[in-house]
Amino acid sequence: MPPELLGPAHDGSGVVSDADQVPLIERLGNDLAAMRQELEAQKKILANLLKQVGMPAQCRGCRAAILWVHHAATTGTSAPYNLDGTNHFGTCPNAARFRRRTNAADTTTGGRERSDR
Ligand SMILES: [Zn+2]
Repeated sequence: MPPELLGPAHDGSGVVSDADQVPLIERLGNDLAAMRQELEAQKKILANLLKQVGMPAQCRGCRAAILWVHHAATTGTSAPYNLDGTNHFGTCPNAARFRRRTNAADTTTGGRERSDR
């Protein structure tokens, strides 16, 4: 077995550092708590950024508060976002109402909605 799998490395002094004495499960729990905090902080940053670049509006399908964001650098079109940063087309209960009946729109639905024609 390779030495690194045998346990914490010792420097030969016989002294085990504090870090080595913290159980693995406790360290993982601490890492997870730190990652959750980081995620919450990132969500706030994203929400603030959206408020700066988005145009406040209300969804005509479900009346939810949304933000229109213009994707100037990529598609050149605008897309509706929820206040948490997710695309509103993905969560709107009435999203189908807004899908354009074009060939481009068909590729996004995989043709599954063609039966209604
Ligand atoms: Zn909606």
